[in-house]
Amino acid sequence: MTADGPKSPHIGGFQAHRPAVLANYAGGEWLGVEETLGDVDPVTGEVVAAVPLSGAAEVRAAVEAARAAQPGWRAVSPQRRARAVLGLRDGLEGRREELVALVSADMGKTLEDADGEVGRGIESVESAAAIPHLLKGEMLEGVAAGVDVEMVRQPVGVVAAITPFNFPAMIPLWFLPYAIACGNSFILKPSEQDPCPAQLIVEIVDGIEEIPPGVVNLVHGGREAVTAILEDPGIDAISFVGRAETARIVAEGAVRTGKRVQALGGAKNSLVVMPDADLGQAVPAIMGSAFGAAGQRCLAGSVCVVVGDDARRAEVRKALVAAASNLKVGPGDDPATGVCPMVSAAARDKVAGAVDRAVDDGAELLLDGRGDAGPAGTLLGPTIAVAEPESELARDELFGPLLTLVDAPDLDAALEFLNGSRYGNAGAIFTRSGAAARQYRYGAEAGMLGVNVGVPAPVAWFPFSGWKDSIDGDLHANGTDAVRFYTREKVVTSRW
Ligand code: NAD
Repeated sequence: MTADGPKSPHIGGFQAHRPAVLANYAGGEWLGVEETLGDVDPVTGEVVAAVPLSGAAEVRAAVEAARAAQPGWRAVSPQRRARAVLGLRDGLEGRREELVALVSADMGKTLEDADGEVGRGIESVESAAAIPHLLKGEMLEGVAAGVDVEMVRQPVGVVAAITPFNFPAMIPLWFLPYAIACGNSFILKPSEQDPCPAQLIVEIVDGIEEIPPGVVNLVHGGREAVTAILEDPGIDAISFVGRAETARIVAEGAVRTGKRVQALGGAKNSLVVMPDADLGQAVPAIMGSAFGAAGQRCLAGSVCVVVGDDARRAEVRKALVAAASNLKVGPGDDPATGVCPMVSAAARDKVAGAVDRAVDDGAELLLDGRGDAGPAGTLLGPTIAVAEPESELARDELFGPLLTLVDAPDLDAALEFLNGSRYGNAGAIFTRSGAAARQYRYGAEAGMLGVNVGVPAPVAWFPFSGWKDSIDGDLHANGTDAVRFYTREKVVTSRW
């Protein structure tokens, strides 16, 4: 986590440039919006850009452009749509340093983390470029005398994506390339907290000749824009990522208006440390998982379930506290930073407030990061607490650099604790035992698991497969799930 210096060629040498005023993009035109909101820098607290606050009229303009473009785009062959997607890959690689710097500056994460995020986003684009293979249908010959059945996949039409603050480049890129590769038109509504990377991605799309105007559109804004997306009859499907509460609002709204929906929600992921775990390997992995991006990842390990007797518990606690104490809190563009600023003062105060309450209730604080919150009120040092299994710290998604320790006598008890969560996004086990890893894999109620891996993010060729309240809907982002979500199956029975 504490870097000696930039590790990637895409880091450094580029100053993030945030346009003073952002704009919507519909039908190939950049459109200003009168009402705006300030995009606040997470390091300085200064307003750095004016974010359009779109409403129903702005969403309608994007929908009309998208609907007009879609039939023509659908008629473009899958091979040519794949080439357009590869054009996006090239465009992203060409401006990668700029995008990395912008992600770091706008969201707050370190440049190294931002580079990892952009790399993951590019992987989704590359995966979607396999669309001629992914779109192929099926046929069954001779189901009755002279009768054959074939299934083809056709685009859904116009799809929208509503994305969160914590991966301002990667999550738009989970959706955009697959949606358009499948022959849909696309409308992106990025987080209003850090919308600059999305604006740059759409600028890159604007420069790609193979993607006609109207196929990709951008609508900035907050709740009002989301409501308009839910209500607009011209949108056929919605991809959403954000908090579980918002996911439920979006899922229910989409069902009410007859739209297909995939709504990925929050998380509270547990990392199980078995008595035989190699702490030399486990502790750095846990540091990265709990405190990387200041704990603002949906795959962050925010609870550590320590399995073992009193002596082992003391050993694990000591090692975790020693490692966390070495993490430097600072801005994302400082290579020495281990814990970056949180996205906003409100996000920081939510976590600090929960720690205050836990301490009042008798939780044991092994490491207290509630010190100087910095000029923007966004800094929170790594914090480690021991809490009861059913406490707020152990059960609620707090989304900050806070690691809660819970004790368990054995793996059965650890599984019982983690399966008691309303969420089922991810988790990890640290062990040298194949049998323990197998029992964990078999019994853990979460869709993305790591074995001796702290952040088990699937590569883009696999689904991002959260369970339980971590998703409303059946089909996930990425992989073949994305293609199934963005297409409708048509089955034709023929007799000749
Ligand atoms: P959020 O729910 O506050 O916002 C997400 C989007 O919804 C934004 O575009 C925002 O403008 C909009 N929105 C917010 N409140 C709304 C409301 N009441 N009505 C309508 N729209 C609303 O989420 P966030 O804080 O930006 O992102 C962090 C959350 O995202 C965390 O809970 C994290 O776990 C989750 N997340 C989940 C995954 C996953 O794969 N499951 C991935 C990344 C992030």
